[in-house]
Amino acid sequence: MSNESGNSSGTSVSRVRGRVVGVPKRCWCGELVVSLMSKSAANPYQRYYRCAFAVERKLSNDNHTYKWVDEALVDEIEALTCRISRLEHTILAESVEEKKKKLAELEMKLEVEVFARVEEVVNEAKWEIKKVMRIVFLGTLAMLVLSKLV
Ligand SMILES: [Zn+2]
Repeated sequence: MSNESGNSSGTSVSRVRGRVVGVPKRCWCGELVVSLMSKSAANPYQRYYRCAFAVERKLSNDNHTYKWVDEALVDEIEALTCRISRLEHTILAESVEEKKKKLAELEMKLEVEVFARVEEVVNEAKWEIKKVMRIVFLGTLAMLVLSKLV
């Protein structure tokens, strides 16, 4: 980052130690982070985040949080972009899973329905056969009776 170029090694160590993705809320020391405006000749009017403790003690070359607002916002946007694409993937994957699940449910339902229908038809057929058998039996009986009578 070009913003960091003018800083001493002390602050770059702090960057590593207090490294936060996006906007820092608290310093590693537990103190809140405040946003300030740079008055340095190198970065005039450039806003930055700084540990409130370090501001209060007017510390310099320390390892408390120090981060340019621009940099933090770029981080934040990058993190958001990553999150959005992750979410998109999740949503897509979910909808595919959802479709598969629905299809499986439908197949199951269809199978059950088909099975029930087949059973119904088989039962109907059985009943028909029974009915026919009964008629045949009664017919035979009637013929027997008739033949005896004649
Ligand atoms: Zn601090």
